Amino acid sequence: MLTHLECARCGLSHDADTVQNLCHECASPLLARYDLTRVGRPTSENSLWRYRDVLPVRDPDPAFSLGEGMTPIVPLPALSRALDAKILMKDESLIPTGSFKARGAAVGVARAKELGVEGIKMPTNGNAGAAWALYAARAGLRSVIAMPDDAPLITREEVEASGAELRIVPGTIADAAKAVADVALFDASTLREPYRIEGKKTMGYEIVEQLGWRVPDVIVYPTGGGVGLIGIHKALHEMRELGWITGPMPRLVAVQSTGCAPIVRAFDEGAAESAFWEDAYTDAFGINVPKPLGDFIILRAIRETGGTALAVDDERIEADRAECARLEGVFLCPEGAATISAVRALRANGWLAADDEVVVLNTGAGIKYPSVNRGPAPEAAPHRRN
Ligand SMILES: [Zn+2]
Repeated sequence: MLTHLECARCGLSHDADTVQNLCHECASPLLARYDLTRVGRPTSENSLWRYRDVLPVRDPDPAFSLGEGMTPIVPLPALSRALDAKILMKDESLIPTGSFKARGAAVGVARAKELGVEGIKMPTNGNAGAAWALYAARAGLRSVIAMPDDAPLITREEVEASGAELRIVPGTIADAAKAVADVALFDASTLREPYRIEGKKTMGYEIVEQLGWRVPDVIVYPTGGGVGLIGIHKALHEMRELGWITGPMPRLVAVQSTGCAPIVRAFDEGAAESAFWEDAYTDAFGINVPKPLGDFIILRAIRETGGTALAVDDERIEADRAECARLEGVFLCPEGAATISAVRALRANGWLAADDEVVVLNTGAGIKYPSVNRGPAPEAAPHRRN
């Protein structure tokens, strides 16, 4: 049962039953806290709502769900042989709106509605905006969404079809944020509202439950805003407190593109926070985030679990996307393919052992990224100013 919101930086407690964005004291993200003595085992629902006791919606409406969650964990035996690794894929392509953003949207929109919010606004790299606009439509909430002009075309179409107001801007998600600054609706952008992460954390609960209530050795996550990684880490801590898991945490790995790697740079420098990544560009659109708001939480989670952060280049990502389709019949999204490139690199440098059980996240459907809209080459990208 939800008790309060706690600042991830200064620990200040906030009321969870009024509309909140960032910490009133230090403007950092707020994390939902629960009375974990009153949590029952998962229900029989075949969706993320099976973990309702650790979700913030006090009275979930069963009619609201589109069936989000409980995506399969799929072995990748041929790729595992090729890379001399042990790879399992949590496949988020099989979810409403075709990306894992549906988890955060389902929970975030349901909670916003419960708190009486009239509508939401957010900048997006595409998939989150599509998910939030569609779930807002289901909940009867207004939405205003801003996205960069080279976001995947299908995500624009989803937003427009939902009846949301769509604003297209040149540049990155940082520029899109400026384009909705004047809108007087609830700001649902990444980590500026506390409940998206609660939806995303169910990936952590599912991985553990689907493996038979145990953790893998390593979880590899394509990191843009990092909400899923923060959420999985939060879920692991909650489950440990609940006594559902014991022993060491899985090592959490953040993978980014060499074209936008603020977390990797901060990790390598031993820094507690990232610095803005200038001229960010990658075909793996979902991880093109030059300065994630939750950078310090991501870095903390990686270090605390003995994990790492690494960047892989777009050519490698595209090659591994093709190889996974050829060897496994799985057409990954580029962000998902980046996790395979990460496993390849970490096996090559010995960070990963051959018998380490690795869960990689395929965060969305490959078919959402048609090649015609793969984006311009870096030198032609409209937001590059040099
Ligand atoms: Zn604070």
